Amino acid sequence: MAKKGAIIGSGLGGLSAAIRSAHSGFKVDVFEENSNAGGKANQFLVDGFRFDLGPSLLTMPFVIQNLFDDVDEKLEDYLTLRKLDVICKYYYSDGTIINVYPDPEKTATEIAKKTYDKKLSVTKYLKYCKKIYDLTSELFLFKDFSDPKTFLNFKALKTLLQINKIDPFRSMHQANSSFFHDPKTIQLFDRYATYNGSNPYKAPATLNIIQHVEIGLGGFVPEGGIYSISKALHNLAIKKGVNIHFNSKVEKIISEKNSVNGIRVNGNDLEYDFVVSNADVNKTYKELLEDKKLKSAVKYSKLTPSTSALVFYWGMKVDDSDLEIHNILFSENYKKEFSQLFEEKRCPDDPTIYIYISSKYNNEDAPEGYENWYVMINAPYIEEQNWEEEIAFAKKNILDKIKSILGIDLSNKIVTEKIVSPVDIERLTGSDKGSLYGISSNSRNAAFLRQANKSKELNHLYFCGGSAHPGGGIPLVLLSGKIAAESIIKTEKLLADN
Ligand SMILES: Cc1cc2nc3c(=O)[nH]c(=O)nc-3n(C[C@H](O)[C@H](O)[C@H](O)COP(=O)(O)OP(=O)(O)OC[C@H]3O[C@@H](n4cnc5c(N)ncnc54)[C@H](O)[C@@H]3O)c2cc1C
Repeated sequence: MAKKGAIIGSGLGGLSAAIRSAHSGFKVDVFEENSNAGGKANQFLVDGFRFDLGPSLLTMPFVIQNLFDDVDEKLEDYLTLRKLDVICKYYYSDGTIINVYPDPEKTATEIAKKTYDKKLSVTKYLKYCKKIYDLTSELFLFKDFSDPKTFLNFKALKTLLQINKIDPFRSMHQANSSFFHDPKTIQLFDRYATYNGSNPYKAPATLNIIQHVEIGLGGFVPEGGIYSISKALHNLAIKKGVNIHFNSKVEKIISEKNSVNGIRVNGNDLEYDFVVSNADVNKTYKELLEDKKLKSAVKYSKLTPSTSALVFYWGMKVDDSDLEIHNILFSENYKKEFSQLFEEKRCPDDPTIYIYISSKYNNEDAPEGYENWYVMINAPYIEEQNWEEEIAFAKKNILDKIKSILGIDLSNKIVTEKIVSPVDIERLTGSDKGSLYGISSNSRNAAFLRQANKSKELNHLYFCGGSAHPGGGIPLVLLSGKIAAESIIKTEKLLADN
């Protein structure tokens, strides 16, 4: 009889681990607290509008392609991905507009046209970002950090010997300021720290890898919106024989001595040969393994979470605005914005605003003559804020800023509104303190502090998802599920002894 595994959570990381483990012959049950799959990559429908709940941009689509290839299925039977022509349109308060393209040359020409920086500086910079990707991706994104072999081989040692080239000793902002003169260019490239909820003035410049991932490899949007990825993986999981139990909150991971052997769901104890937690790592330790008093629980509770978000989903009576699918309205003082987020732990008084309009690509996401605006600002992780006050403060600032930069008075254009605060993100997805990407990368060694995909303290326990290695974001959580499944395949015997 095949061995049985329980996966806690049907986020993209959990689905990736489930699909791969089931494909290799294990019997897999997924337990999901919500009534549908996808976790943060969910959607909701309101008054004729469709909104993606969380993620809005897909990068590294080859990670999804590889998942389908590895389990002998055709991606195109489940999902259609489209490459964006313009990845993001950046607006500055002095009226400057810069488009970023999935093409280093084109982006460099655009930046040289709109700022004091030269095209050559941008091309040189994007080559430096690519070099970091080439040197680090294999080791930091695709490998199991709990396996000593990851570091004890020629390739890993070669990377570690070229440590200066991966730029871990400068902050992202310091490195970006060394390439460019114009504050607009620096701010544009500093923004990539927010792709994993970090602070560009503290995060290591190694994170400049993200610029290559987006501009060099491209930004994508699936037909039907980001939620189509969750639907596709849900369907693939079913095809592979995974049983998904919705409305099933796992209350406890059961263990004996130093081995886990089951879970408790709705008061029932169920036996399993292994357990994978796709729930937030801190919550797993604090709520599901509370009785074990593990060292890791103390360690993870001390790490700084990534930022959260405050999102306004507005159905808008706006017909074909000049905006792109992804847009940024920059703040005037970026340093102050991050200090308010991470030190004062409040919403910035001049926030950088992100506007995602999926109806630009998917007409059916909004009724004719309307657009679906997902308007997001970075918000601090939860720590005794008064969210009612923060939301009212943020909304006024956002409306004023949109009016002054875009010249659109939204007050009579919003026909429907839903708001999701950090408290809602924690409630809806189980993220500790509402963080979007697990722990922040505001220190040089953050990559090494994340939870490894296999527990060092408890046998038969595995982790995947944004708060585990290699981190948050759609491609990384899919890789996290892959590394967890590979570790399961290596460690757990496929068949029970009897
Ligand atoms: C507002 C926002 C914007 C984002 N933007 C982007 C973006 O543009 N691009 C990008 O790549 N990424 C983005 N992200 C990050 C990305 O969404 C996440 O990193 C990724 O989706 C997380 O996947 P996960 O596997 O960690 O699972 P999660 O999505 O965190 O899901 C975990 C699941 O586990 C379930 N669960 C938790 N505890 C239990 C329990 N005890 N019992 C049963 N079920 C449980 C939860 O209900 C949830 O469904 C964004 C996230 C947010 C919130």
